[in-house]
Order: sequence, then C-alpha cells, then structure tokens
Amino acid sequence: MLGATGLRLSVVGYGASPFGNVFGDTDRAEGIAAVHYAIDHGINFFDVSPYYGLTLAETRLGEALAGRRDEVVLATKCGRYGADAFDFSVQRIKRGFEESLERLQTDFVDLLQAHDVEFATVDQIVEETIPAMRELQQQGKARYIGITGYSPKNLVAIAKRVKVDSILTYCRYNLMVADIDDELIPFAKEHGIGVINASPLHMGILTGRGAPAWHPAPNEVQDAGKKVVELCVAEGVDAPELALRFCVDHPYVTSTLVGMATRKQVEGNRNALALEGYSGLLERIEEVVSPVHNRTWRSGLAENYG
Ligand code: NAD
Repeated sequence: MLGATGLRLSVVGYGASPFGNVFGDTDRAEGIAAVHYAIDHGINFFDVSPYYGLTLAETRLGEALAGRRDEVVLATKCGRYGADAFDFSVQRIKRGFEESLERLQTDFVDLLQAHDVEFATVDQIVEETIPAMRELQQQGKARYIGITGYSPKNLVAIAKRVKVDSILTYCRYNLMVADIDDELIPFAKEHGIGVINASPLHMGILTGRGAPAWHPAPNEVQDAGKKVVELCVAEGVDAPELALRFCVDHPYVTSTLVGMATRKQVEGNRNALALEGYSGLLERIEEVVSPVHNRTWRSGLAENYG
C-alpha cells in the first residue's frame, strides 16, 4: 500500500524511461510485449514522465497500455520537460498534464508527481506547483499527487511544508548508497507518506552493459559498480537481479522502480524475488563498495543540494 493512498503497488514497479531510448535504442514492438508480459506476471505499477525521450516514453507506454489501462496503477510527472527544461508554473503544469494524458491515452493517472523538484525553489513547489496539482486531483484527473527528486533532504523540506501523498527518490537506496534511511524514511513513516525507490541498478551502473555516457556518478563510483558486477559474475549470480532483490527487501519502501524495455529483463527482474542464499555475497559487495558507499553528486539548485 502506498502510504495512506490505498493504492496497491507491486513490489517491483515498471520504470518506462528506457522507452525514451535514454539508455540506448529500444525496440517498439518488444517494448509493448514487455509491458504485456509484466502485467501478465503481476507487475501493476508503471512510471513514466514527459521528460523521458522528450515525450517518446509516454507515447510508447500509452500504446502498450491501450486496452489494459484498468489493470495498472499509472504514474507520470510534470515540471520537467527536457535535460534543462523545467517549468513548475501553474499554467505549464496544467497544460503539460493534459498533453501527458493524451499521449498516455487515458482520462486520468493514479499518481501525478512533480518531477525533480530540486530544480525549483521550495517556495515555488509549495506555493504554486502542489496547489495546481491538487486542483487537477479535484477534477478527477489525478487520483493522488507526489514529488520526485534526487535529494532526500530537499524532498523532506517540501513535505514538511505541504501535504504530499508520495515521495519518489532515485539512486539513494541500492547496493551503492543507503542514505534514504537517514531522514526521508523516518519522516515518511511518521507522516504515513508512501515511498517509491527508483533506480535499483544505480541507473545502469549495476548492469553488464554499464553506465550510459551521461551518468552523473563520479568515476570511482562507476568503477566500484563495475567491480560489483564482476564479483557477481564470478559467483554465477546475475548482478541486476541481486541489486533489485536488495532493494525489494527494504522494509518501508512500497515499490522499487526498475527501468525495463524487454521481456528478458522483466523475467530477470521477476526472478530477483526468488533469489536465495546471497547474504555472504552481499557482505563481499559491501567491502568492495565501502570506499564510495553513500557517495552522491550534485543535482538542481545549490540551495537544494543534499
Ligand atoms: P535503473 O537503475 O532501473 O537501470 C535501468 C537500466 O538497467 C536500463 O538500461 C535497463 O535496460 C537495465 N536493466 C533493467 N533490468 C535489467 C536486467 N534484469 N538485466 C540487465 N539490465 C537491466 O534506472 P532507471 O531506469 O533510471 O530507474 C528506474 C525507473 O525509475 C525509471 O525508468 C523511472 O521510471 C524512475 N525514475 C524516476 C526518477 C525521477 O522521478 N526523478 C529518476 C530516476 C528513475
């Protein structure tokens, strides 16, 4: 259950950003098949944004969900429309959201989230963006509203000032980092706010293919991630499966969002739930990661770093 919303999310959620080709080109037909395969195998939570592939991911997810919309919990976002294109104003939020609904071929989403809020001032998100999103909720176009971003500190600062139904953070809880537990999780627990954890593979670092060129993590973090993958390979364990399993075991997070574009990946990520006997390997991974554990990078306005 996502906080107090009553939304029931699968513990593994389907991240649709790869449909925007952000991790390399993906095949349209295979993507549709992957979405159907995921739904048929119990994954009901889908997350996207107009930012991913500059609207391409929303369009492709909309195509894939045609005829199956009522089987899923659908989340999209507003406020971020490109690498450097942010607009959290009332007008843009409302106009952008209507366009998202069209691309997603639906009348409403289950969760509308302000995307990467550290790129705006806390005042704007609290006084302008969230009230605009609440209006959309009152119109029945979004069942619940949330905020997403990289900085747990910034997300908590916002949630202390205005009620939100959910908080999504990424790259702050996985084999490389665990500082979601410092402030965000205790705060969310106390206030009954749902938490979604994204990027269990540290945005590709914990895969055989490795990080995409745009990845913001320092080289030492990327190198440590490579060593984790090598260690898993040597032990005959699939690194993405183990990395996802580690995240799914978090006691408070409702759903872990992993980016997927193929049936093979969906299948692998379902296998993660059945993984057993990996605690010894986790200890060795901890040793490898320890010099860079909790090493983060800067994102957004300087006043929101953290
Ligand atoms: P991720 O850590 O989930 O890594 C995704 C990469 O791993 C992709 O290249 C994918 O093809 C690959 N992959 C997935 N499963 C695999 C498997 N079993 N074997 C090998 N490779 C595999 O990173 P992500 O996609 O950035 O995060 C997941 C989702 O979370 C996103 O799609 C998005 O929906 C959400 N997210 C939201 C925000 C935000 O709101 N600010 C930020 C990041 C992510």
